[in-house]
Amino acid sequence: MLMNFILRAAPLTAFLVFSASAARALPNPPEIVPAQGGPIKITPIFHASMQIEYGGKVIQVDPFSAGDYTGAKKADLILITHTHPDHLDLKAIEGIRKQSAFTAMIMPPAAATIVLHSISIRGANPVFPLNNGQSKTMAGIRVEAVPAYNIVRGPKPGQKFHPKGQFNGYILTLGGKRIYIAGDTEATPEMKALKKIDVAFLPMNLPFTMTPQEAAADAKAFKPKVVYPYHYRYPFDKANENPQQFQKALVGSGIQVRLRGWYAHPAPK
Ligand code: ZN
Ligand code: ZN
Repeated sequence: MLMNFILRAAPLTAFLVFSASAARALPNPPEIVPAQGGPIKITPIFHASMQIEYGGKVIQVDPFSAGDYTGAKKADLILITHTHPDHLDLKAIEGIRKQSAFTAMIMPPAAATIVLHSISIRGANPVFPLNNGQSKTMAGIRVEAVPAYNIVRGPKPGQKFHPKGQFNGYILTLGGKRIYIAGDTEATPEMKALKKIDVAFLPMNLPFTMTPQEAAADAKAFKPKVVYPYHYRYPFDKANENPQQFQKALVGSGIQVRLRGWYAHPAPK
């Protein structure tokens, strides 16, 4: 009788274990953006990394090994904003690409040069270099490259952390919604001139990008409906008040600010 029960229960147990692992989610909950054809799900992962899901497609933005990718989905499309190690991480790309199917990658030419030298990644996964101002539709998703650069800040006089013309932010159009991921940038005239942005992600850490006040002035200029401060700490374990300052500076602006746990889930040791 007991054996009979075990035999009959075994497949059920196996199914439950399988279901539990299949349903495993990323540590941060997803943000839901209603759109035509179904919701867009955006899950903050770490620092400047996020997973975006829409219409059965998965986009991984700036995958970074410092974050916890437990439960992350393999990418149909990987977007890289620029060459710095918190944005271009070959190990993280290797982990999140599809090994036996098509994963497209879009990045600025300077990043493509690095990725194309990594023989293990290049294989079946095409790399599409995209310059500022260019756009491409991949996996049914329109991606537009927006300039991301420093106006004043750099490691020494005459140099910038992010020189003009080399690195990208991106606007994704999904189900009629425009999602803007700024990358590492200051408040550029190109950003201030953006139109009809539904959701924006803006960086704010010094010395590399901008202050929370600058980012808030920037948001007031192009008026996204919803904005997430991201990329606001370095070192990653050192807390600061940047997102709260940003939120305070936008009180009464009509722009909805959402603070999320961008640093709450580092990669398990
Ligand atoms: Zn950078
Ligand atoms: Zn960065």
